[in-house]
Amino acid sequence: MSKSKTEIDAKLLGWYDRHRRDLPWRARPGEKPDPYAVWLSEVMLQQTTVAAVRAYFDKFIKLWPGVNNLAQAPAEAVMQAWAGLGYYSRARNLYACARKVAAEHGGIFPSDEAGLRRLPGVGPYTAAAIAAIAFDRPAIVVDGNVERVMARLRALETPFPEAKKAIPGLVAEIAPRKRPGDFAQAMMDLGATVCTPRRPACVLCPLSGDCAARKRDAAENFPRRAARKPRPLRRGAVFYLRRADGAVLTRTRPPRGLLGGMEEFFGTDWGETLAEQPSEPLCGVDLAFAGEIDHVFTHFALKLAVFVGVAPRGTQAPRGGRWRGPEEMAAAALPSVMRKAEARAEKFLARGVLPDARIGP
Ligand code: SF4
Repeated sequence: MSKSKTEIDAKLLGWYDRHRRDLPWRARPGEKPDPYAVWLSEVMLQQTTVAAVRAYFDKFIKLWPGVNNLAQAPAEAVMQAWAGLGYYSRARNLYACARKVAAEHGGIFPSDEAGLRRLPGVGPYTAAAIAAIAFDRPAIVVDGNVERVMARLRALETPFPEAKKAIPGLVAEIAPRKRPGDFAQAMMDLGATVCTPRRPACVLCPLSGDCAARKRDAAENFPRRAARKPRPLRRGAVFYLRRADGAVLTRTRPPRGLLGGMEEFFGTDWGETLAEQPSEPLCGVDLAFAGEIDHVFTHFALKLAVFVGVAPRGTQAPRGGRWRGPEEMAAAALPSVMRKAEARAEKFLARGVLPDARIGP
C-alpha cells in the first residue's frame, strides 16, 4: 500500500466518523444498511439534490416500506408520488426494478455490481454505490462530488468532461480495502460539505495537506472545464382549459420518452419554431394568450406559450383527455413544467380578463 493511500484514507475515514451527514437513508454507526433504502435514495439522487430528495424519500418509505410493497403498488400511484422530482424515466425504472427484484430475486437485491447492473435503471454509478454502501463491496463510486474532490486533490489540468475517464483510477489509488462503503460516503460528504463548488472550506478539510490545488492556492480553479455549448431552445404552446365547475382538462403523455406516462395539458409539440395562437378552439372554446413560461431540461431549454380558456359546465373531454377536479389536480402526476403552466394560467384567470372565469354553480 502506498504512503499516500494509507494517509489519505485514514484521514478521510477519521473525518467521516466525526462529521458524517445524518441522512434518512443512511445507516447509523453500528447499524446494517438497508439495501432497499440505499437503492431508493440512489435512484432519487440521480441528477437531484439531497435537499430535494429528502421529502420524496420519506414519502416513498411511508407508502412502501419495502421493495415488495413497492412492487405491488399500482403504477399510477408510483408516478403520482414521484411527480415534481423530475427525470420521470427514473420513476418508471424504479417501479420496473422493484417488480423484478420481487419476482426474480425473492425481494432481495443482488449484492455485487454485475447483478445490480442487470436491474432496470441501475447504471454503472448506481450499481457501484449500492454495492459499496449497502453491501460494503470494494466498488469505486464516482459522482459529481467525488470528481471535484479528486480533480482538486490532484490539480488535474485535463478539462471535464474529458477528465472523467481518469477519475476512477485516481480514486482507486486512495481507496482502502477496509470500509469501502464508508470511504465512498466520506468522499461524497467531503465534496458536499467541505470541498464545495464555490468557496471550499480548505481550512476544515482533512486532506488539505495532501491537496495539490490547495498548495497552489487555486482550489476554485479546479475542476478545469471545457467551454460549454449553449443549450438549444425549443418552443411550444400549452392549452389550459378550465370548466365552470373548476375542473381542468388534462391528458397522459405516451409511456416512452421525455416525461413519459406523466400528465399534461393539451398543447402543441415542442420544436424550433415560435408557438402561435392555436388555430382551432379547444372543446369549442376560444383560447387567450396568458404569457410564456421558461423551463430547462437537461438537453434543451423550453419556452412555452400558455393559452387559457373557460369551458361551460357539462363540456365533454375530447378524445384522450379527462377533466380533473381541484382535489385531483392537486395530487395529479404533473411534472414541474406543467405546474408552472398551471400557475401562469391561474394567475391570468384570477385577473378576471376572461368572461365566465369565476368558478361556481
Ligand atoms: Fe477540496 Fe480544499 Fe480539501 Fe483540496 S483542501 S480537497 S480543495 S476542500
